[in-house]
Amino acid sequence: MLAPHAADEFNPWKNAAIRFENAAAKLNLDDGMRKILKTPSKELTVAIPIILDDGRVEVFTGYRVQHSIARGPAKGGIRYAPDVSLDEMRALASWMTWKCAVVNLPYGGAKGGVICDPAILSQIELERITRRYTAEILDIIGPEKDIPAPDMNTNEQTMAWIMDTYSMHKRETTTGVVTGKPLNLGGSLGRPEATGRGCLFVTREALKKFEIPPSRATVVIQGFGNVGGMAARLMAKQGIKVVCIIETDGAVYNANGLDIEALMKHRRETGSILDFSESQNLSSDEALRLQCDVLLPAAKENVITSENAASLNCKIVCEGANGPTTAPADHILAERGIFVVPDILANAGGVTVSYFEWVQDRQGYFWNEKLVNERLEEIMVNSFYDVLKYACEHNVENRTAAYMLALDRVAFAIKLRGLYA
Ligand code: GLU
Repeated sequence: MLAPHAADEFNPWKNAAIRFENAAAKLNLDDGMRKILKTPSKELTVAIPIILDDGRVEVFTGYRVQHSIARGPAKGGIRYAPDVSLDEMRALASWMTWKCAVVNLPYGGAKGGVICDPAILSQIELERITRRYTAEILDIIGPEKDIPAPDMNTNEQTMAWIMDTYSMHKRETTTGVVTGKPLNLGGSLGRPEATGRGCLFVTREALKKFEIPPSRATVVIQGFGNVGGMAARLMAKQGIKVVCIIETDGAVYNANGLDIEALMKHRRETGSILDFSESQNLSSDEALRLQCDVLLPAAKENVITSENAASLNCKIVCEGANGPTTAPADHILAERGIFVVPDILANAGGVTVSYFEWVQDRQGYFWNEKLVNERLEEIMVNSFYDVLKYACEHNVENRTAAYMLALDRVAFAIKLRGLYA
């Protein structure tokens, strides 16, 4: 177990290892299988030299980690951030393996990233970084090998550059090499909203367990980007009260529910969510402790920790982000009876619609939005009850159940394939 408050508590790869070992032990997986499942299958570190706008040369570091290809090609996003590290990539890649297995997509897991601060880079600099990074990882990606997608600080435009760079090298337009592309370049309807929509579906099912009708439910969301912002918008449309949004510079609160569309407009105009009319500014710490039905961390890792888990006042935690809860906090949430919808289930809507996008690209036949959303709902709701059933049958909490279900599926694929030697 990780010592609470130790620096290790904030190392995602160490947190991933604890959850893995716990589930592997409960499944009685043998030693050999554990070794295979916990070792990333490929790790690539690349240097990305580019010319900055002022003429200087800078060399950035990029990674692509493929954790597993047992159930299909590797799949996972690419993030740009100053604190990207190899250990973070390993954790996020393994979470992609487990996530794809929980929702039963025919994929393994991968993650990539570049250590950089997009806030101080121009569009042209970002394009140069993206193209050179793509060229450096080109040999290990491809529609049948490893399919990147957006993650923190990357978007449709980033995916279009990756698709173009890959296609220029291959001398043919290959839309299926990335997902999360713009609509007119082989993207899918419903993909931008997919992670938030998936969070809505599992939150709705979790609320049913507490017999709370959506019209009476209150939600606090941490993060107002692609995941948190979309979840807020979709939940508000369903009549769920989003009472508080927490961002990096603070939080805004209204007990009667925030007007999400107006808050988005306010942020566009002022650059911040703070000082929004008919709401009260709060510190992020105060906001995390608010009484609510659902707390939806939808930004980054290590938000619910051994330090604050005891003071949360929610019934349900729905993990829109990857790794928002540290392993030492798991026990505290469990003791307090807080119902956790774990990240590898809660935020799987994004990769699920990525899968739909990849299928559509390969078929060259595109679905309407209704079909995308219906199929997403079916997968999210079924997976939610698969995890709950597993938890009940094995008498474990939801996160352990989700890991057990995922490990079991991946281990089964490895057993069937056997070891190539
Ligand atoms: N970055 C997203 C995630 O962490 C989406 C990955 C994908 O669509 O491949 O799940």
